[in-house]
Amino acid sequence: MPTVSPIKKNDDVYILRGKDRGKTGRVLVVIPDKQRIVVEGVQMIKRHTRANPQRNIKGGIVEKESPIQISNVALVCKNCGKHTRIKHQVLADGRHSRTCKKCGSAIE
Ligand SMILES: [Zn+2]
Repeated sequence: MPTVSPIKKNDDVYILRGKDRGKTGRVLVVIPDKQRIVVEGVQMIKRHTRANPQRNIKGGIVEKESPIQISNVALVCKNCGKHTRIKHQVLADGRHSRTCKKCGSAIE
């Protein structure tokens, strides 16, 4: 049975651990197999790129997000605006629902 990621693309998450602790960002990519996500503006790493004039890429240093562990973030509830633990439920028809533990509303 596949594990269901509690975090989805375009969720807003609050960073609990690491150098970006306290930041809030939008989830850009979810990597369920590795339980990792990429969050906009979080865990930025510098990458050196080589110039490629054919693709109009200038050489130099670019900053890019790198993946972080899902366990290091908390979902931000769109209803109450707080970062929260979520209650995960499988409905009778097989769909998954996520409920905010702070305000009790469904998150989607
Ligand atoms: Zn809430």
